[in-house]
Amino acid sequence: MKLYNTMTQQVEQFVPLEPGKVKIYTCGPTVYNYAHIGNLRTYVSEDILVRSLRFLGYEVIRAMNVTDVGHLESDADEGEDKMLKGARRERKTVWQIADYYTDVFFQDMEKLHLQKPDIVMRATDQIDEYIEFIQVLQDKGYAYQAGGNIYYDVSKFPDYTKLSRMPLENLQHGSRGEVSLDENKRNPYDFALWFTKSKFDDQEMKWDSPFGRGYPGWHLECSVISLKALGEQLDIHCGGVDHISTHHTNEIAQTESYTGRKWVNYWWHAEFLITDEGRMSKSKGGFLSLSRLQELGYDPMDYKYFLLGSHYRKQLMFSDEGMDSARTAYQKLKERTLALEEAIETEAYLDQFKAALADDLNTANALTLLYAVLKDDSLKSGEKRYIIQQMDTVLGLDLFREKEHDLDVETIERLIAERNAAKSEKNWARADEIRQQLIDMGISIMDGKDGTTWKVN
Ligand code: AMP
Ligand code: ZN
Repeated sequence: MKLYNTMTQQVEQFVPLEPGKVKIYTCGPTVYNYAHIGNLRTYVSEDILVRSLRFLGYEVIRAMNVTDVGHLESDADEGEDKMLKGARRERKTVWQIADYYTDVFFQDMEKLHLQKPDIVMRATDQIDEYIEFIQVLQDKGYAYQAGGNIYYDVSKFPDYTKLSRMPLENLQHGSRGEVSLDENKRNPYDFALWFTKSKFDDQEMKWDSPFGRGYPGWHLECSVISLKALGEQLDIHCGGVDHISTHHTNEIAQTESYTGRKWVNYWWHAEFLITDEGRMSKSKGGFLSLSRLQELGYDPMDYKYFLLGSHYRKQLMFSDEGMDSARTAYQKLKERTLALEEAIETEAYLDQFKAALADDLNTANALTLLYAVLKDDSLKSGEKRYIIQQMDTVLGLDLFREKEHDLDVETIERLIAERNAAKSEKNWARADEIRQQLIDMGISIMDGKDGTTWKVN
C-alpha cells in the first residue's frame, strides 16, 4: 500500500507499527448542525481508506471523536462556541443539539454505506482525562495559567510547525486565516487547553476542575481520545486539509509533549469539496446536507459515485450537472450489475483492483476496472458478478441491492398530507420530522406550485 503522507509531503510505502495491524484515528464531526456534503466527502474518502486496508488483508482498528464541546467559531480560539450558536438558533439546550446532530450524522453515514468507526467517543465524556492530561503538561512546563485560562506554550515545543511547514509568522491560524487576539496568550499561536473565562460567559457546558469551573479547548479531545482508544502511537491520523495548520499542528504538539515520543506515522488529509462560491462550509450557511440532496431527487449512492470518480487529494467542484451525470451513470451501472447471473468465483481482475487501491487509493482507476469487467467478453456473467461483488466490498456502492417494490403508497400519502397540515399551522419542526421519516423510507418529496410530489430514491 502506498499513501501520501502530509508530514513528509511524499507518497510512501505504508509500513504499520505492528505487522498486519493498523491503528487509525479520525477527527469526527462538530455536532451543532447537519454535516454538509463536503464534510461527508472526507468521511467517504476515509471509509475507502479503511475498507481498502481491510481488503488488502490488514486488521484495522479505527477511533473517532464526536465534538460536542469547545469548538469555537474560529479554530484559533476566537468567537462564540459553535454548540451554543446551534442551541440559540433552535431554542434547545446544547445537549439536545448534540444528541440530535450526532444521530443525524450516523444516519448520514449509514445512507452512504460508511462503516462506523470501531470506537466512537464523545468529547464531553472525557473530562477527567483532560484534567489529568493538562496536569501532566503543567508538570512538564508546557502549560501556563493566564487570565483564568490554561494555555499551551508553543515556544516550548521544537518543530511546532513540522506538519504544515509554514514559518510561524506566516502560519495561518484557523481556516479563515485569523490569528488569535486573546491578550492572555504569551504569543498569539498558543492555544487554550482549559477555559474558565471567555468573552462568552453564558457557556452552558462547564465542569469543575483544579483550574476552576470551565470547559476544555477544542484540540484536547482528539489527543486524549486517541491515546485512550489506541495507545501512545498511531499508524494513520485522518482529517480534512483545513486541519493541517492549526488543529493537527496543536494535536501533535500537546500529544508529543505528553508522551515524550513520536505520535503518528502517516498524516492523511482529504481535499475539499468546493462550489463556485468557494469551499463548502457550515458557518457560511446555505450548504447542502445529504437529506437536502435527497429532497432534490438524488440517491446518496449517486453522490458517492460522483465522489469516487475523482482522487481524494484533489479539490472537487460540486455542480448540478456533475450530480446529474453521476446519477445517470450510477443508475445504468446498477441495471447492468443487477442483470448479472449467480456469482462464480474467479481471481480475474482482483490483483489489478488491489493495485489501484494500493496506489494511494486511486478510486477512479478502480471504477475504470469495474467497467472493464462488465465489458470483458472472455468472462462469464457470473464471474463478472463475483468480481464486482468483491470490488463493492471496498467501494460500497450497493450495486446488488434490488429496489424495494412493495411500496406502502397509502402511508406515504398520509404522511405528505400530515406534513402539509403541519406546514399550514407553521409547525416546521413537525413538518421536518415527517420529511425525515419519508427520507428514511427511501422517498424524496418535491414541493412545487401544484402541491407535493414524491418519488422513490
Ligand atoms: P467539522 O464537522 O466542521 O469538524 O468537520 C468534519 C470534517 O469535514 C473535518 O475532517 C473537516 O476537515 C472536513 N471538511 C470541512 N469542510 C470540508 C469541505 N468543504 N470538503 C471536504 N471536507 C471538509
Ligand atoms: Zn481532531
